[in-house]
Amino acid sequence: MTDDNERREAVEVRCPKCGRIQIVYIPAEEIPKCPDDGTQMIIRELLDEGKVL
Ligand SMILES: [Zn+2]
Repeated sequence: MTDDNERREAVEVRCPKCGRIQIVYIPAEEIPKCPDDGTQMIIRELLDEGKVL
């Protein structure tokens, strides 16, 4: 069975300034700002989360 109540996607975000990488889940979470320098982070790569145990 799958949880279809809320579909989340794991994305890797990266700070263009210092290169810090973080994983966030959209749309549950917003794209964060870098905790180090406050730069708006950008989505680096979409992670396929098709497999659910
Ligand atoms: Zn940064």
